[in-house]
Amino acid sequence: MKSNWISRADRLSKLPPYVFARLDELKARAREQGLDLIDLGMGNPDGSAPNEVIQAAIAALSEPKNHGYPPFEGTANFRHAITNWYQRRYNVNLNPDSEALPLLGSKEGLTHLALAYINPGDLVLVPSPAYPAHFRGPLIAGGKIHPILLNAEQDWIIDLKSIPEDVAKRAKILYFNYPNNPTTATAPREFFEEIVAFARHYEIMLVHDLCYAELAFDGYQPTSLLEIKGAKEIGVEFHTLSKTYNMAGWRVGFVVGNSDIIQGLRTLKTNLDYGIFSAIQTAAQTALEMPDEYVKTVQERYSKRRDFLVKGLGKLGWNVKPSRATMYLWVPCPVGMDSTDFALQVLQNTGVVVTPGNAFGEGGEGYVRVSLIADLPRLEEALNRFEKAGIYYQTQELIY
Ligand SMILES: *Cc1c(COP(=O)(O)O)cnc(C)c1O
Repeated sequence: MKSNWISRADRLSKLPPYVFARLDELKARAREQGLDLIDLGMGNPDGSAPNEVIQAAIAALSEPKNHGYPPFEGTANFRHAITNWYQRRYNVNLNPDSEALPLLGSKEGLTHLALAYINPGDLVLVPSPAYPAHFRGPLIAGGKIHPILLNAEQDWIIDLKSIPEDVAKRAKILYFNYPNNPTTATAPREFFEEIVAFARHYEIMLVHDLCYAELAFDGYQPTSLLEIKGAKEIGVEFHTLSKTYNMAGWRVGFVVGNSDIIQGLRTLKTNLDYGIFSAIQTAAQTALEMPDEYVKTVQERYSKRRDFLVKGLGKLGWNVKPSRATMYLWVPCPVGMDSTDFALQVLQNTGVVVTPGNAFGEGGEGYVRVSLIADLPRLEEALNRFEKAGIYYQTQELIY
């Protein structure tokens, strides 16, 4: 029998509500009440793309050949820029024709990868908390999620021993992400070696999201999965231009690594989209070829904001650990308050938007994520409002 014509497919109706969409409604309501919002909720960089990138895009726009459909597999120039960047940055050799694929942003690729590889009922290992695309993609594909709960005591690093043997044996994909959104955790190289050995032993596809490759501070250099011996046999790594180059609205990212895994994603995408506007691929190529000084200025901008906020919050009694990477602070809620209540209280009393940790899965409960996406005067305004509203912690003993 035909169901109600407007009833949504199970793959949609079974998805948990997208907390960011709900947060948007609350923000709209707060704005209606005349609140001047300071939005530290999203992971949306506040600056514009570098001028060189904008100029390259403008020049590419005036070329008629760029106005047609781009090649499915991305332009050869962008793919070469990707593999050159890998060589320069990690000393990793990749084939630009088979081991690199441009994407309409990494969220698109992370989600579609699940659609290319997960059958209904297949088991997917995803940390909790995690970036929503890491579990929503598999859910849309009909997969079953085995959440790997992270915790402060283990520095938010996946404890591979906590994964039951029978689960590991059945799992098809493991998604992971260091430097981590939302916890800001970074993982040592030894962890990458362990997870590669684990995935090879249990024959699990490893999907690493390295979207904060360059947003690291105090001299810290994040590890690439592909630096690890044997990783390319079982894994792929996703990158974005959104964060380092302030290009979130341009929708461009890429995946590199195992050519068979990439080929499956490419086959699916051939049926879904026509790839990225060629002028944007030219701009992205220019971004990847920017001198190291550019990345340093971005790192400095975020680390200054981090230091300013950590110090200011400290004065108000919020004992927050400085992040080594990413564009966030991961802040414990006052004792006895869950993350939604706390985020709501902060929004209603101060007009400052922070993201409740449970938006990233149950493992994020008890924390809120604060994005470093406003300039120092705006962050100072946020601190002043916290002080005025008396949003202090009622606890001395905080664990990280
Ligand atoms: C911001 C972010 C992305 C970026 O997604 P795009 O679609 O490339 O803009 C991917 N993964 C994580 C963990 C992120 O925080």
